[in-house]
Amino acid sequence: MTTYVNEENLVPVVGEYDVIVVGGGVAGVGAALAARRNGCTTLLMEKSVMLGGLATLGLIAIYLPLCDGKGRKMVGGIAEELLHLAIKYGYDNLPDGWTMGCSRSEATRRYMTVFSPAEFVIALDELLCAEGVDLLFDTVFSKPLMEDGVCRGIVVENKSGRVAYQGKVIVDTTGDADVMHRAGAECTEADNWLSYWCYNTSLERMQKAVTEGKIFSGLHLQWFGGDAFGRDAVAGARKYYGTDAREVTAFVLEGRKLVRHKLDKTRADTLAYITLPGMAQFRTTRRIKGFYELQETDINTHFADSVGTTGDWRKAGPVMEIPYRTLIAPGIHNIITAGRTIASAGDAWEITRVIPPAAMTGQAAGTAAALAAQKGCSVSEIDIAGLQQLLERSGVILHF
Ligand SMILES: Cc1cc2nc3c(=O)[nH]c(=O)nc-3n(C[C@H](O)[C@H](O)[C@H](O)COP(=O)(O)OP(=O)(O)OC[C@H]3O[C@@H](n4cnc5c(N)ncnc54)[C@H](O)[C@@H]3O)c2cc1C
Repeated sequence: MTTYVNEENLVPVVGEYDVIVVGGGVAGVGAALAARRNGCTTLLMEKSVMLGGLATLGLIAIYLPLCDGKGRKMVGGIAEELLHLAIKYGYDNLPDGWTMGCSRSEATRRYMTVFSPAEFVIALDELLCAEGVDLLFDTVFSKPLMEDGVCRGIVVENKSGRVAYQGKVIVDTTGDADVMHRAGAECTEADNWLSYWCYNTSLERMQKAVTEGKIFSGLHLQWFGGDAFGRDAVAGARKYYGTDAREVTAFVLEGRKLVRHKLDKTRADTLAYITLPGMAQFRTTRRIKGFYELQETDINTHFADSVGTTGDWRKAGPVMEIPYRTLIAPGIHNIITAGRTIASAGDAWEITRVIPPAAMTGQAAGTAAALAAQKGCSVSEIDIAGLQQLLERSGVILHF
C-alpha cells in the first residue's frame, strides 16, 4: 500500500511571460527563438546547465540531413540556421555545395554534418542571449496548474526553491512530454534498446589527427548498445522505459558497464574516454496522441496544415510533411509540443524524431505559441494560414 504525505502547496509566482518553453534541446531552442522573434517575452527553462539536449549534453553530434537525398533542400528556417550555428566555432564535415539558404546542390553527399557538442553549446548561449530569450538553467519543471484544460502557471524547482511562472502559452520541449502528460494529455509510451554513445581518443587517433591536420580525426564517437530496433544489441540486452526513474538509472548504469568492459580490455595509457553523456540517451519515452498521429503511410502526402517538410535520413527520396495537428492535443488549450514528442508512429516516428525535424517543429510551436498568446486564443484556434505565412517568411519549406 502506498503511503502519502501532504505537500505544502503555496508557491510564489516569480515571473510572467507571453511564452514559456520548458526544455532547452534543439526543439526548445527553435521554439524560444521563434516566439521571441515574433515579439513575445520568452522564458526558456532547462534542467541541466546547457542548451542542446541530446544534441549536446547527450553527445548525439550528427546533424542529420536537411535534404531529400536528391539534391533538394527540404528543411530550412531555424533548423538550417542551427546546423550552421553548430559548426560556427567547431569542426564539421559539411559537403561543399551546401550553404546556408541554398535550395539545391550538386554535392554528392547529403546536407548533413558532424559537429562538436561543446562548441555548439557556446554558440547557442551567444545566440539566445543576443536575441533576448530569458534563460533559466538548473530549473526542473514540476507541475502545470490546470483549470479546465487551461494551464494557469507552472511550478518549478531550482536553487531558489519551489516557485511558479505564468505564461500565456507553454511549449513542452522536454523530450518526454512531461508538461503535456502532467496536464492530462493522452500520450503513448515506448521502450528503448540500450544505447550509449560517448567519445574516446587513442594514441592511434591522435597520430591520425596530427597526420591529417584535422582535430576530428583524433576523436572517436563510440557507439555501444543497439540501434532503435535493437540491431547490434549485446546478448541478453533488454529494453528500458524512460518514464520511470529506476529504469532511467538502470539504462545509464548498463551503458556505463559496457564502457567498463571495453576499458578492462584496453591499456590505460593508449586509450582515454574524453566525455560521457550527461543525459540518458532514450530515443523515445513519451509522445502525445495529438489531434493527428503521423503514420508511415503519410510519407509523400500533402497536408493543408503542414508546418514543415523533412526528408528521410535513412534513404534518398521519401519526404514527409508535418501537420500542425501533431503538435497539439485534444482538451489542452495553451500547451503545445515539439521535437521527439510530437504525435507520430512507426516509420513516421523514425523520420521525425531526429535533430532537423525537432528544430523545425520547435520553430512551428514557438510561432504558433506567439500567435495564440497575442490573440488570446487556444493553440487549436490559431489562424493556420497566418502561421504558415510567418513560417514561410522565415525560411521554412511547408510543402514538397
Ligand atoms: C542513441 C541516439 C542516437 C541518435 N542519433 C541521431 C543522429 O545521429 N542524428 C540526429 O539528428 N538525431 C539523432 N537522434 C535523435 C535526436 O538526438 C533527438 O531526437 C533530438 O535531439 C531531440 O531533440 P528534443 O529537443 O526534442 O529533445 P531533447 O534533446 O531530449 O531535449 C529535451 C530537453 O529538455 C530538458 N528537460 C527534460 N525534462 C525537463 C524538465 N522536467 N524540466 C526542465 N527541463 C527538462 C532536457 O534536459 C533536455 O535538455 C538520436 C537519439 C538517440 C537517443
